[in-house]
Amino acid sequence: MTPLASLLMERIAAEGPMSLADYMATCLLHPEHGVYTARDPLGSAGDFTTAPEISQMFGELVGLALARAWMDQGQPGFTLAELGPGRGTLMADILRVGRKVPGFVEAAEVVLVEASPLLRTRQEETLAGFDVTWVDHVTDLPQAPLWLVANEFFDALPVRQFERQGDGWCERRVGARDGALTLGRTEPTAVAALAHRLGDTRDGDIVEIAPSLPPIAEAIGQRIADHGGAALIIDYGDWRSLGDTLQALHRHQRVDPLAHPGAADLTTHVDFEAIATAAPCAHSRLTTQGVFLERLGITPRAQQLAAGLQGAALETHVAAHRRLTHPEEMGTLFKVLGLMPHGAPPIAGLET
Ligand code: SAH
Repeated sequence: MTPLASLLMERIAAEGPMSLADYMATCLLHPEHGVYTARDPLGSAGDFTTAPEISQMFGELVGLALARAWMDQGQPGFTLAELGPGRGTLMADILRVGRKVPGFVEAAEVVLVEASPLLRTRQEETLAGFDVTWVDHVTDLPQAPLWLVANEFFDALPVRQFERQGDGWCERRVGARDGALTLGRTEPTAVAALAHRLGDTRDGDIVEIAPSLPPIAEAIGQRIADHGGAALIIDYGDWRSLGDTLQALHRHQRVDPLAHPGAADLTTHVDFEAIATAAPCAHSRLTTQGVFLERLGITPRAQQLAAGLQGAALETHVAAHRRLTHPEEMGTLFKVLGLMPHGAPPIAGLET
């Protein structure tokens, strides 16, 4: 049993079953035993690998799309923000490619939104030489033009799960039985936040709500609407989520989400409609990562980089291109949603 499992059992014994959102939040960000706070879960030796850790091409193309939108909107002074920057690799690649766009890096105030003190230290190391500040919440970002990226951030937001019964919903809750964590459910009640799901679900269907998502999307969209800017939100998920999408990864293997609290990374599929609905600005069509990267020119960039490589390095590079774009890998599962001011030109790669 993990140290966190014992703490969770004690808490359940004292207070009764907890929502899945409380369980997820504790597993991910418990100050001593959380997945993101106790150690670095990223990379081949950790629990999962993300797009910027697969290849520099990802960050370069994201950086160029952001810089292009900045030129389209008159090159203002702006906040360059990232949500959940992990090891800081994506922001480092954005800033490196951003230097090729005259004035872009000079006009940027880089602000990182990061909850884990340990990962803040990693980011500080990766971004040494750049002036960077950190904030705890998206609502702490300056009231200024905002260019923002979030890769695999929204999938880490805690969700509540509800199972439909008649016109009511039973919430799934984490309890304990015979020395193990178990999933139970409440009696059905009406849930106002799910009124819009009565039309597209049936008895027994499960839907998820991330309670912390709307205020985050609203804070981003409000800055973009008021001051200009653009956001690229990249994650796995769909326009509207249906079903139990909670998954746990421990050292790159799928495991039972209740079996290794604090040791296994927990994520869910992102409900992109919830982001678009809460953000008071315009949004792009939801576009697959493969199409987005191809439109931005990943193939010619991959060929250019391949020319300088041989042997194992060349094989790794070719595999990375495939991993980022192929429909059987990250190309279709991962999606990109752009946020921009009403009337602004489309973001590169997200044209309809
Ligand atoms: N974007 C990175 C890392 C993704 S992992 C990459 O692509 O490699 C998720 C990141 O979000 C980690 O940095 C984690 O510490 C951070 N995070 C998770 N929940 C958070 C929250 N509620 N507030 C701020 N940061 C959070």
